[in-house]
Amino acid sequence: LIRKEIIGLDTQVPLMNNGFTKYVNFDNAASTPAFKVSYYKVKKFLHWYSNVHRGAGFKSQIATKIYDDVHNIVANFIGADKDKNTTIFVKNTTEAINKLSYSLNLSDGDIVITTLMEHHSNILPWRNKAKVIYLQLNENGRLDLTDLKSKLEKYGKRVKLVAICGASNVTGYINPIHKIARVVHNYNSQLLVDAAQLIPHRPIDIKSNNNPEHIDYLAFSAHKMYAPFGTGVLVGPKDTFLQQGPDYSGGGTIKAVTLDDTIWANLPDKEEAGTPNIIGAVALGATIKFLEKIGFKKIVKHENKLLNYTLDQLQQLEEVKLYGAMKTGNAKKQVGVIPFNITSIPHSLVAAILANEAGIGVRNGCFCAHPYIHYLLGLTDKEINQSKKALAQEDYSQKPGLVRISFGSYNTTKEIDHLINTLQKIIKRQQSGFDLTKNYEFDS
Ligand code: PMP
Repeated sequence: LIRKEIIGLDTQVPLMNNGFTKYVNFDNAASTPAFKVSYYKVKKFLHWYSNVHRGAGFKSQIATKIYDDVHNIVANFIGADKDKNTTIFVKNTTEAINKLSYSLNLSDGDIVITTLMEHHSNILPWRNKAKVIYLQLNENGRLDLTDLKSKLEKYGKRVKLVAICGASNVTGYINPIHKIARVVHNYNSQLLVDAAQLIPHRPIDIKSNNNPEHIDYLAFSAHKMYAPFGTGVLVGPKDTFLQQGPDYSGGGTIKAVTLDDTIWANLPDKEEAGTPNIIGAVALGATIKFLEKIGFKKIVKHENKLLNYTLDQLQQLEEVKLYGAMKTGNAKKQVGVIPFNITSIPHSLVAAILANEAGIGVRNGCFCAHPYIHYLLGLTDKEINQSKKALAQEDYSQKPGLVRISFGSYNTTKEIDHLINTLQKIIKRQQSGFDLTKNYEFDS
């Protein structure tokens, strides 16, 4: 779709046995490669390289204007009401959620409802801050919305937040975030959407603050949406962040300091301690503008085509087990992420063969979502415990897990053919009795 606009798609990588091949990146859920526009914009900005907010010099004024403007570009991109909300730049989604977990001023009796399908970044920050309760999933690994209602009913006012991913990094399942928001607001609670996996694939409109379907908090990372590493975003109501001092304080966060008092700066400066990642913000702004130029209509259509094409072919391979209920891609319900295993071949070995013998980059393991993987694999408590103990001893030989392919808007059906051919070869070699672990250091 947009291959020529992306950096590094022609990169050749070495193969184990001989030669080189063009790298195929099916690991976009980890990070997407960067748009060329972000690079050009940063290159141009480097001539105006200067710190923001504090300098009287011309360059500093220009840098400040550009940096502050990106906050507006981001707010417009997700439909945030700029009077009521603040757009805070952080390092990544993980930092955004940790910041929110601090800013909500939670105490012991408070409850945060999250789900069994979350990335660890939307589980661990809530622990030790509040009691964490997990929403159940149905047999397909999708959220059970009746459980949301019954938990909100049961715990009432104690529920300070419901924290849910917009799309899963394991199954690609999209959650009905606006429907969920309506339910959450009915019970006078608030909703955080971890949009790390949704933001590059679907348009997001958090809606105006008085709309019952409004998303209260949104977190995402630039490196998953064709901008470079190092910038994340947290959007939420100004009121939340005005209740107390920031999680990190220091330069840039204040209006005035005396020996015994601090007057905090306006938002978002108060929440962006120290010199921010100005270059990262410049790149993010350029990337968003480019995404808007392409338009999500095209992106959704293309990625859903890739998803369907792959699901069709994978289902023809008897030895491939798909997780969740992966049959046909539905653009409303799933982004381009597919988890699978090949019968009797460890996920780590499949991923290593794809990388070393076909130049295909996938990810395998638990994808920072251990509870979800345990659920999808149907592990018993005993098995989960055994695996936990083994991992604590740094014994990875029996690590449960899956292979994950995840698409970007630039992937092609030709690349998928290459993947399917390689999987077929792996299966054939296994069936002919060949020792697949030969050349690899895997012992499981
Ligand atoms: N949430 C989800 C759903 C993710 O997929 C990821 C990244 N894999 C994160 C949070 C964390 O993102 P980051 O590493 O950029 O903080």
